[in-house]
Amino acid sequence: MSSDKPQKPATRIVTGGRSKKLTGPVVNAPVWRASTHLYDDVAALEAGKKSNEDGRFFYGRRGSPTQWSLSEALTDMEPGAHGTMLYPSGVAAISCALLSVLQPGDVLLMTDNAYDPSRAFADGFLKRYGVETRYFDPMTSDITSHFCERTKAILLETPGSLTFEVQDVPAICAEARKRGVVTLLDNTWATPFFYTALEKGVDLTILAATKYIVGHSDVMIGSVTTTGKYWTRLRQTAQQLGQVVSPDDAYLASRGLRTLAVRMKAHEASALKIAHWLDGRPEIEAVLHPALPGCPGHAIWKRDFTGSAGLFSIVLKGSKNRAAAFVDALTLFGIGYSWGGFESLALPVHPESCRSAVPWAKNRSLVRLQIGLEDVDDLIADIEHALEVSRATI
Ligand SMILES: *Cc1c(COP(=O)(O)O)cnc(C)c1O
Repeated sequence: MSSDKPQKPATRIVTGGRSKKLTGPVVNAPVWRASTHLYDDVAALEAGKKSNEDGRFFYGRRGSPTQWSLSEALTDMEPGAHGTMLYPSGVAAISCALLSVLQPGDVLLMTDNAYDPSRAFADGFLKRYGVETRYFDPMTSDITSHFCERTKAILLETPGSLTFEVQDVPAICAEARKRGVVTLLDNTWATPFFYTALEKGVDLTILAATKYIVGHSDVMIGSVTTTGKYWTRLRQTAQQLGQVVSPDDAYLASRGLRTLAVRMKAHEASALKIAHWLDGRPEIEAVLHPALPGCPGHAIWKRDFTGSAGLFSIVLKGSKNRAAAFVDALTLFGIGYSWGGFESLALPVHPESCRSAVPWAKNRSLVRLQIGLEDVDDLIADIEHALEVSRATI
């Protein structure tokens, strides 16, 4: 690069992973569909085996320029990163990241608002493997009170993807580092565009790239980005577990990534407009959006994030049945899991079933909204209509 000045995030999103070596003479790294790499002669084969490094085509399971381009682009978005491994889903990324740092006998601390399948992996697989998981209040002001001799790692998620508590990640990571405890963060909500995790002290940062990176609701993919310190372990664990992403999926994820900056700004603007509009409505008990003062950890969001995503929750007044009536009455919002695509979604959610450290009050009518790229005034009109219809179910 010609300038010493660090590039801004939107520039890195466009340029990352697009060296000539990866793209050839075209703009996007082509799809290399391959298992076998053919060598010119046996000497070249033997030389390839010996070097056996990343960044040179060796065998399909190690990826090809299509996957390396995406991986390099994600690394470029995280100042302080050494490399990125790709996985066939966000859950595979979380599991492999944890397995790369934990061994039997260790204790894992997990934030109580973690993505439910992360808890399932800890309470199922990790338990059988001999790792004990302890859950803690996401708003804890003293992480050290949860430490014991065997504490090895902490899994964070900020904000939580159902209830949106924002954690003091820098404070937690500083204490963890003092005691040699590894920190991992699920950064799916903000993406590195709004939150550069390694700069906050996180050791391994995880994305369900399925969501905003892909951005079009048509690919499952995950990633883990880390520093030089944990890179070898992360890479070896993924390779030993046979983790590989198809070149077609990597291509689609790269294609989605190039527009991440404009999409995130559009999701942000519309979600904020809708959240503020909802905040004053008589039907609404609470709006759980990190950029609104009513959200736990709002001040931390303001300090640490450069923006807010399009996903937030609302608590409707009235009985629990109101959530279903409200969601059913929406016409522009699909009903379904996942989020981060261009289209709006709504989902009644029940955090009480996936909490153990801080119980979530039952019988609250909680709805999670993913605000897509439709015209925001059309979305508001749809929500207003659905609120009126749902009044009958109070
Ligand atoms: C969706 C999601 C995941 C898992 O990603 P998949 O690609 O669906 O496996 C992990 N964390 C969060 C916060 C998510 O929303």
